[in-house]
Amino acid sequence: MSRIVVLGGGESGVGSAVLAKVKGHDVFLSDMGRISEDYAAMLEKWEIPFEQGKHTEDLILNADEVIKSPGIPSTAPMVQKIADKGIGVISEIEFAGRYDSAKKVCITGSNGKTTTTSLIYHLLKQAGLNVGLGGNIGKSYAYQVATENYDIYVLELSSFQLDNVYDFKADIAIITNITPDHLDRYGHDMENYVKAKFRITRNMSSDDCFIFCSDDDITIKHLDQIVLKAKKLPFTQKGEVEQGAFVKEDRMIIRYKEQECDMYLQELALGGRHNIYNSMAAAIAAKVIDIDNEAIRNGLATFQAVEHRLENVLSIKDVLYINDSKATNVDAAWYALECQKRPVVWIVGGTDKGNDYASLIPLAKEKVKAMICMGLDNRKFHESFEGVVPEIHDVTSAKDAVGLAHGIAVPGDVVLLSPCCASFDLFKNYEDRGRQFKEAVRNL
Ligand code: ADP
Repeated sequence: MSRIVVLGGGESGVGSAVLAKVKGHDVFLSDMGRISEDYAAMLEKWEIPFEQGKHTEDLILNADEVIKSPGIPSTAPMVQKIADKGIGVISEIEFAGRYDSAKKVCITGSNGKTTTTSLIYHLLKQAGLNVGLGGNIGKSYAYQVATENYDIYVLELSSFQLDNVYDFKADIAIITNITPDHLDRYGHDMENYVKAKFRITRNMSSDDCFIFCSDDDITIKHLDQIVLKAKKLPFTQKGEVEQGAFVKEDRMIIRYKEQECDMYLQELALGGRHNIYNSMAAAIAAKVIDIDNEAIRNGLATFQAVEHRLENVLSIKDVLYINDSKATNVDAAWYALECQKRPVVWIVGGTDKGNDYASLIPLAKEKVKAMICMGLDNRKFHESFEGVVPEIHDVTSAKDAVGLAHGIAVPGDVVLLSPCCASFDLFKNYEDRGRQFKEAVRNL
C-alpha cells in the first residue's frame, strides 16, 4: 500500500481516486477549486477523504506518488512543490494502465479525436466485442478499470493527458493530425506540442501499430526524426499506399497484411474531406483488430454524427443551420467551410488562442456571403476579413447571431456556426455554445 494523492476533483481525478482505493492504496484527493456535488458524493460513497478550495501541504507532500489531472498545468505552484520534493507525478492514464491488461486503441491529434474514437468504438461494438470507451470521452478510463472488465478499450487522449505518461503502452496508437492548438500550454513552442502528441507511441513494440495521416507534414517530419518500432500504417488522400488506407477515385481502400477492404465514399455516414480521413483511420484500426469487411462498411455507413461536430440542426425555408461549435481552432473551421457547397453565413468568434486566419481567406472569399462575429473582442476577425467577405457584423449572444443570420440568409444558403475560437468569453464551454445556438434556431 502506498499513499496516493490525486490533484483535481473532476472526472479524471475522481476516477483515479476510486481506482487507487479499489487497489488498496491510502488515497487523498485535493482540489484548489470547487468539486461538483456529484463528484463529492461519489468520493463519499467510496470513502475517499478529500478537500476543496485549498491544497494542504501536510496532506499532500507526504505522498509516495501524485496523480495530476490533465487540467492542472505542470507550472501550478503545488505541482512545482511536489516535483521539488522528488515525488513522482503521473497522469490518470499512466496509473490506470498499470492495472489494465486489456488491449488498448488510443487516439490523439489536434482535430478529429472524438469523431475517430467514437467511430472505432462503434465499429468494435457493432462487431460484438466487449469494448469500453473512455479517456476524454464519457467515464474516465481509471473509473472503468476500477469497475468494469473490458477486453479492449478505445481511448481518446488529449496532449494534456499524455504529458505525464511513462510506462503506458498502446497496442494501436493513432495521431489524426497535428496543427497548432493549445500552444499557450507548451511555452508557445510547436516542437513541445508535437512531442506531447507523440508520447502516445512510447514503449510500442514491433507487434503494435501506429496509424497516422501521411498528408500531414508536421507528423511526417517528426516521424522521420524518431525511432519507432511499431508497424506504420499511414492514411492518405494523395496517392496509394501498400499498407494503410488511401482514396482511389470514388472509393477508399484499406490494406492490412494480405487483406483489402474497400468502400464507396458516398456510403460514409459522415460528410466532408476531414471525415474521409477519420473514417480511414478508424477502418485501419478495425482491420488490425480483425473486424470483417462487411462489419466495417456497415459501421461506417450507420454512424451517427457526434453532437457539435458539423451537426445538421434544422432546415428552415431551405436554409440549413449547422452546429460545428467544437471547431475551436482554425483548421477545424477550414474543413467545415471546405465541405460547404452552398453560400455560407458564417458565425465565428470567441476567445482567440493566437489564431492566424490566413489559411481561411481563400475559402471565405469563395463561399462566405456574410460573417457574424460572436465574441467580446472581434478585432482580429475584422482585420483579417474586411474586404474578403461582403459584410461583417458583431453580436454578443447566440440568440442575436441566429436572429441576424436568419435575416441575411436566403433559400439555398447555409448558416454555419464554426467559430475557430474557444468559447469562454460568452459561454461556459463549447457544448453550452452549441446548445444555445440550437435552441435559438429551434425558436426561430
Ligand atoms: P477533437 O476531439 O480532436 O476536438 P472532434 O472530432 O471533436 O475532434 O472534432 C473537432 C472539430 O474538428 C469539429 O469541428 C470537426 O468537424 C473538425 N474535425 C473533425 N475531424 C477533423 C480532421 N480529421 N481534420 C480537421 N478537422 C476535423
